[in-house]
Amino acid sequence: MSAEVICSSKGCNALAVWVISWRNPRIHDTARRKQWVACPDHLDHLRTFLAARSFPLEVTELGTASEVEATP
Ligand SMILES: [Zn+2]
Repeated sequence: MSAEVICSSKGCNALAVWVISWRNPRIHDTARRKQWVACPDHLDHLRTFLAARSFPLEVTELGTASEVEATP
């Protein structure tokens, strides 16, 4: 079962294949996770954006994790 998930990058309509789970330690407690999804072209872009802010992040392949909430 694979609902179509579109890349979180602004203006991108490509199918996402990666999930980036991250949090901002300043405003999120340790249990909190934000999730972005990315197409292959934007994975590095989004990951670099978060890494530059020293946000903890984890990248997983879409569909391998069960916690993705991008579907209605
Ligand atoms: Zn994209």
